[in-house]
Amino acid sequence: MVLLSQELDLAFVVDGTGSMQKSIDTVRKEVNSIARAVRDRFPALCLRVAFVCYRDYNDAAPITSLDFVEFPRSASARSSVTAGGQEGDRVFQDFVAGIKADGGDDDAEDVFSGLEAAAALSWRSANRLLVHIADAPMHGQRYHTFDCTANPKRDAYPEGDKNGRSGADILDRLRRGACVTKYYFAHLNSCTQKMIDTFREECGDPDWIQSDTLSNVSQLPELIVEVCSSTVAGTLATAPVRGLGRSGRREVIRLPISRLVPDWTKEREVPVSAQKVGLPIGIYSAARLLSDVRAGKPLPLVPNSDIRTIKIAAQPFASDGVTRWPFYAVNATPSASTGSPRSQQQQQQQLVMKRFKRPSCKTEVQVHRRERYLEQMETQVVAEVLAAEFNTQARLKNVQAKEISFVPVSLLRVTESGCPEEKRWFTAEPLLQGGAFTRFSNNAGYVNANDYRATLQAFTHWTHQFSDGVLMVTDLQGVLADGRFVLTDPAVHCGEHLDRFTSTNLGEEGAKLFFQTHECNGVCKGLGLRPHPLQPSGGHRLGMVTSVGADRYYDKASP
Ligand SMILES: [Zn+2]
Repeated sequence: MVLLSQELDLAFVVDGTGSMQKSIDTVRKEVNSIARAVRDRFPALCLRVAFVCYRDYNDAAPITSLDFVEFPRSASARSSVTAGGQEGDRVFQDFVAGIKADGGDDDAEDVFSGLEAAAALSWRSANRLLVHIADAPMHGQRYHTFDCTANPKRDAYPEGDKNGRSGADILDRLRRGACVTKYYFAHLNSCTQKMIDTFREECGDPDWIQSDTLSNVSQLPELIVEVCSSTVAGTLATAPVRGLGRSGRREVIRLPISRLVPDWTKEREVPVSAQKVGLPIGIYSAARLLSDVRAGKPLPLVPNSDIRTIKIAAQPFASDGVTRWPFYAVNATPSASTGSPRSQQQQQQQLVMKRFKRPSCKTEVQVHRRERYLEQMETQVVAEVLAAEFNTQARLKNVQAKEISFVPVSLLRVTESGCPEEKRWFTAEPLLQGGAFTRFSNNAGYVNANDYRATLQAFTHWTHQFSDGVLMVTDLQGVLADGRFVLTDPAVHCGEHLDRFTSTNLGEEGAKLFFQTHECNGVCKGLGLRPHPLQPSGGHRLGMVTSVGADRYYDKASP
């Protein structure tokens, strides 16, 4: 079931004018190593690749495109053959080899026609990624900063598209019509910046478009491997384990995003009642936790009187969380000693409050049940208790590992009258600070090779062995601050209780997916962890199979 999400449609949309030959050649030469590197992380991946080349209005061949062809799973087991009897990767490479960069009268190009052709491709996989490579913007002053009065040769259509099409409409056909999961843009210079900024406004979800600025075309393959992997990892984390439908995709009701931290002096105070799991770490031992989990006992709840009043932003600040919306908030509870409100912003504890996203097939009442928020909190508490035990064991065994902790979570209920029942529930936790937020792994075998952390990989392995295979803590994300990992939103795999620990609990299947890509490192060895039969043998599988990303994988293997 989980493996249904291990499929990817990857469409290249490439500017085929003048100076683009080097980029086109890079895609042709590197596409197989890109495919190998992505498949290395997702061994069961079914990969289909398409190519769209666009030029300008008056060029002889404005659009050339190849619809999706399936890439063979490995060079030794070529089974997927296209109608013409040739393997997909060869068809793709032959097609791209036939493209010669030329044309393009002025500096701006007919980008819209390229995107239109991409929307018309036969997309069908659970994960759909568009990779756009260009060194020139779309026609129209709203997409570039060219001075067309001084130099009309830069854009012959400064008023915009010659055919009167709108960017919002074309992007909507890609995002909602073709259900493209992510639009990735590679900037080869700065003149495409305004176009992508404008696309972000026009498409209705700024986070849908991701971009990188390249200093050299040779960086392309590695960046494409990363964006392919994170696209597949994103939907794997919500694999349809609980009857969400076979496709593995679920359309959520979208909310507008605001990345700004509100001016808290202008925000309204909201009364809440808070609860937390009542287990002082060190007293409630990891062993006791495990026996409670195995017995199916709920974790004990106590009131959290530190949070009685909050202020919360009206809109979430990001949309990339898989199941929940995050909101900036502050704890505005009057201090206990004086009873006076905490007036200074600095004194107010910064929080992140989270609510579940609502799939379009569910009602508010179905989504926002207290039990779901409680389950989310319990998942993080289990990870927190196990992390404390892990730190202790690493210290006792003199293993060179960094400390790991999970931020403490509270369950919040808005108590003011008039608030609809389904809008009352949140989880709240301190805002992570002191480092860049990073996703290090997911719950289905994805390992962030660009920021590989031996301690975190070993922690996941350790949780499985320590619990005799009952539990596994995965999906590790957060910050590295002052030499220690502070994490949030983990997943817990628990085969004995698939009904606990939220829908990211993939049970035994999830543990298998972890081991398929896990290589034991120095921290694993120091802790005496036994390799699992599913682990790649010899410990060199990644290095042998992939030419892209492998070096960095080993380079970063510091604890
Ligand atoms: Zn290991």
